[in-house]
This record gives sequence, C-alpha cells and structure tokens, in this order.
Amino acid sequence: MGERRSPRIHAGSRMKEMMSTYYLGAKNAADNNQKVAWITSGGPVELLIAMDVIPVYPENHGAMCGVTRMGPELCEIAENMGYSRDLCSYARCDIGSAVTGKSPIMGLPKPDFLLCCNNICGTVTKWYEVLARLFDVPLVFIDAPFIHDEMTEGSVEYVKSQLRRGIKQMESILGKKFDMDRFSEVAMLSGEASSMWGETLALCKNIPAPMSAFDGFILMAPIVTLRGTREVLDFYETLQKELKERVREGVAAVPGEKYRLLWDNLPIWFKMRDLSEKFIDLSACMVASTYLNAWARYDLSGSDPVDAIARAYASAFVNESILHRAKLMRDIVEGYSVDGVIFHSNRSCRPYSLGQYDIKEMLTEWTGVPGLIVEADMNDERVYSEGPVMTRIEAFIETLKPRREARV
Ligand code: SF4
Repeated sequence: MGERRSPRIHAGSRMKEMMSTYYLGAKNAADNNQKVAWITSGGPVELLIAMDVIPVYPENHGAMCGVTRMGPELCEIAENMGYSRDLCSYARCDIGSAVTGKSPIMGLPKPDFLLCCNNICGTVTKWYEVLARLFDVPLVFIDAPFIHDEMTEGSVEYVKSQLRRGIKQMESILGKKFDMDRFSEVAMLSGEASSMWGETLALCKNIPAPMSAFDGFILMAPIVTLRGTREVLDFYETLQKELKERVREGVAAVPGEKYRLLWDNLPIWFKMRDLSEKFIDLSACMVASTYLNAWARYDLSGSDPVDAIARAYASAFVNESILHRAKLMRDIVEGYSVDGVIFHSNRSCRPYSLGQYDIKEMLTEWTGVPGLIVEADMNDERVYSEGPVMTRIEAFIETLKPRREARV
C-alpha cells in the first residue's frame, strides 16, 4: 500500500512556520504583556483579535493529539477523573492534557479567560464550564439558537445581544474599551479570508483535483485559528497560486484520479496517512469535505460588524437543520462532480453524525450518488476497527465503477 504518492504542497512549509510562530507567541504571551483566551472552533474569534487577545483553540490542539496518537492516553486520564467515555474525545483529550500537561506541543498556555459559543454543539458549554473551574478564570459565553428552518430576525437580535454582553464582559476582564473600528476591520479581513478559503477549496472542482481533502485537513489550520489577521490572507493567496499552477499543468493530488469523493464530518485524525494512502491506491480523490467548507461560509461583508458576526456564527453548518445540510451537500456533490460520499459516523461528535443516514438517502434520491457510512472517532482509536473500515471502502469504490464510466 502507498507506493504512489500525492505531490507535496509547498505552501505547507510556510504554514508550519506560521503556526509555530503563532504557538510560540501564545506561549510567551505573559512575558509580552499579552492576554490569552481559549476559544471554541466556531466561536467569533474576531472579538478577541480586535482586543489584541491571542486566541488558543483546544480543538486544534485536540486534532494534534489525534494525529500524534495521544488520544487514548489523554482520554483515559479524563475517564479516570470520572468523565464518561461517551463524551467528545476532544473534550476528554483537552481535560486530560490540561491536568497533566501531556501534549504533543508541551501543553497550551494557560488562559486568562475563555470564549465559548455553542453554535457547534452542547458539549462545549459544559466542557468550558469545567475549564473555567479548573483554571479559575472568567467564561464569556455566546448562546446561538439552533436554526430549524430559516434564520429569524429574532434569532439574529438575540445573538447580537449575546455579543454585546460578551463585549462588555471582555472590557471588564481586560480593563480596556472595545474598539468598534478595529472590530470592523478585523471582521472584514476575516470575511475575506473565509471567501479566499472557499475559492481555494473550489479549485478542486477541476478534474483532476489539485488538492485532496486530506491536504485540506492540514492546510485549514490558519483559517480556523487566525482568521481576521492579514497573514492568513497572504498565506491562502500563496496556496491558491500554487494550486492554480497545478490546475494549469494538470497536476493531480491523486495521480491517475478516477473517482471523486466527498467526506462528511471530522477527519479520523489518527488514520489520516493510512486513509489518504488507501484512497490513492484506489485512484480515488477526496475532492471536498463538509468540514473544510464550514470555514468558507462566513459572509462578513455587512456594514454593521456585530450584525454580520451574529448572522455568520448563528448559521454554523451543524447549527442548521438536516434538510439544510443535505441541500448544501447536494450543491457540493453537483459542483465538484462527486461520484460517492463517505460519511464518517463519528462517535464523539453527535451533532455532526446525527441525521447522516437521512442525508445519505436524500442525496442518493436527488443526485443518484451513493454514500457509505463508516463508524469511527476523530481521536479515540479504541473505537476504531481498521479491517472492516478498509474492506468496506474498497467494496464501495468498486460499486462506483459504472457511475465513473458514465461520467467519462
Ligand atoms: S462534540 Fe463535535 S462539535 Fe462538539 S467539540 Fe466535540 S467534535 Fe467539536
């Protein structure tokens, strides 16, 4: 397995440098008289950037724990403290790491306060309460109501009031005034970065795709952690340039690409390399992922930044109905010429996994594209069975042959 290789994306080295500088800056924050806030991945980070607070993402750290296969060890530490094995493995890894300091990057810098938004799940609400007690720091909480159908103006007003309250809390924690002009500027940069990320992903509509979702899972770190800063825009500009060059030269992320797939849910971090190689061997390219697209949806172009942020963050991918998610996936299937969908039924992430069977049915009915559900977890290897997953993937790709031949 794995004799053929995906060509290396050179912008990846620049990203590593950028992320190292960012983590170093966060670790040295106290020495430089800067504050650090831990924030959820779907939280309105623009508030922090506008206040010159360094954002740190336990979920991003969680992904690193997964990739470096520290998941089970850290989860067990949390379980031995009494936390249920049914809890999200990011939360368990984070708690395990926070109390022991065990981490692939020697731990995260201690937070001065926490910013939690429940637009991704209810788990974060309790997880951040635990962190607030553990570090004895204030918790700024933004409540985002679930969108069952269309977003109502009432919901927008409610989230705006949450943001205003959060701003007041931050002013009191940091002892300084919130600068609305700076916030507008940061929101604008963040919206631009999100559009640029979306355009970068859209380059994979080309056949063959110049990048796979496995590359994207690594290259997404800046849009998750540093959106709202100029350097993120510069980075994605460089990446786009490289990928456009690949498109011009017909360079494929998966040499000899035959099948085009869509991935739903988080990656299985501890199996990234094996799965990527498996799909390369099967000449199948993961051309898109709903997870990657989640950061390409922030429209922050409105003239009132509080209003724009409220609308953008309330409509997080997993904060919307199953029908809405299915429609978004249909657009991806059609726009990216997808032959099949792999649904990662993620034991940790129930809000993301809920409804996947229904979405699979809807997509097949609407587009004829079949789906495969594989059961795993993004970080907890103890619930993953390699043999059955790989066998099912091979069998699924085999069933795509007629569809692929019809497309050609
Ligand atoms: S339950 Fe899902 S959305 Fe919530 S923190 Fe875990 S992985 Fe993220």
